[in-house]
Amino acid sequence: MRICSTRDRAQSVSLSQAMQQGLAPDGGLFVPAELPRIGLPRDGVTTLAGTARTLLAPFFEGDALAPRVPEIVTEAFTFPAPLRRVQGDPERLSVLELFHGPTAAFKDFGARFLAACLARIPGDGRPLTILVATSGDTGGAVAAAFHGRPGVEVVVLYPAGLVSPLQERQLTCWGGNVRSFAVRGSFDDCQRMVKQAFADPELRARLRLNSANSINIGRLLPQLCYLGATALRVWESEGRAPGFLVPSGNLGQAVACVWARAIGLPIGEIVLVHNANRTVPDFLADGQWRPRPSIATLASAMDVGDPSNMERLRFLFPDAAGMAGSLRAVSVSDTQIRESIRAEYAQTGLVLCPHSATAVHVYRNLDPEVRRETHWVAVATAHAAKFAEIVAPLIGGTLAMPPALAELAARPVAHEDLPADFAALRARLGSA
Ligand SMILES: *Cc1c(COP(=O)(O)O)cnc(C)c1O
Repeated sequence: MRICSTRDRAQSVSLSQAMQQGLAPDGGLFVPAELPRIGLPRDGVTTLAGTARTLLAPFFEGDALAPRVPEIVTEAFTFPAPLRRVQGDPERLSVLELFHGPTAAFKDFGARFLAACLARIPGDGRPLTILVATSGDTGGAVAAAFHGRPGVEVVVLYPAGLVSPLQERQLTCWGGNVRSFAVRGSFDDCQRMVKQAFADPELRARLRLNSANSINIGRLLPQLCYLGATALRVWESEGRAPGFLVPSGNLGQAVACVWARAIGLPIGEIVLVHNANRTVPDFLADGQWRPRPSIATLASAMDVGDPSNMERLRFLFPDAAGMAGSLRAVSVSDTQIRESIRAEYAQTGLVLCPHSATAVHVYRNLDPEVRRETHWVAVATAHAAKFAEIVAPLIGGTLAMPPALAELAARPVAHEDLPADFAALRARLGSA
């Protein structure tokens, strides 16, 4: 498959090249030049890894990594994505649990898959350095995915004192090939330093840099797989294409869901659920694109006022009316998030993280006709225990840590301090 830039269909590269480069040279995002149409797998849904092999085959066609897709998939999909039916007649709501990986959020899928791919793309002698700025969750997932891989160094920059204690632990508990820098500055400073590193000729000559950030196409493909496998499972058991409620921030999961439907998987309505950052719902309402600074909410991983992946959606739906006809987007307030966490626990026993609660809130408030039309899948993006300080008081109880998080809690932590200054970062890169 040829992968092109959202800004220029003529500039195309292979999938491996797109994963290595991250961003297209013209500043656009990499997308499939043409989306394949796949037939529904004849042998039905087997395992997640089995379905992933089938769904990924056309994307890797002609790529140097094509013969290695089976082993990449085996290595990446080592934890399940169970679909749990929410009890209560006449509900047909299921929750897709994407939080059984090492850092208990869906970003583990993308980070592990990308790591498995990058580890198999031949280098040129320069060490592969994954340089990532994080405001919380992404850095932990990337560190976990690349930890212990030979020939790779991971450098994580995070704003000192501005991430939660649990998040800091996930960024600093690895050791080995993972270095964590607590930057005396903001997340924006961290991001600026990463951008400066990518633009620095001396560093680029010395190191093979990759950011592994969420705009990398290699992070979207595994998401397409679990969303597709889920849709197929519902289709097989009920003969209907489920609707998806997708908690959204930078719109990576949204793009993966739209691609899954576009290649022919049985997916009905797609509802993008945002928090109080309403850029996307407003755009679908009036066709005016008005990016804005992000607002802090309880669903912090969705606090994005200018989502980068909108560029991928606009590539698929060049006019706003077309997009509004294919997707819905809604905004959920912090008050509604709190109420959803409280009410779901009281009524169904479901314990939701603030992000996942946005999707369930929207389900409960769908027009009853629309709600009954099909089976709905609310995507649960993180484990509630990651946000215990918000969730525990609302459900009036304590939260059990999932085993993976408990394991991290037992590890020693270490970080290096760094001023918010690119020269200081450059001096430390490539020298332990
Ligand atoms: C990243 C994240 C989101 C938002 O996903 P996007 O793909 O950026 O839209 C939602 N929930 C959690 C827990 C996340 O970590």
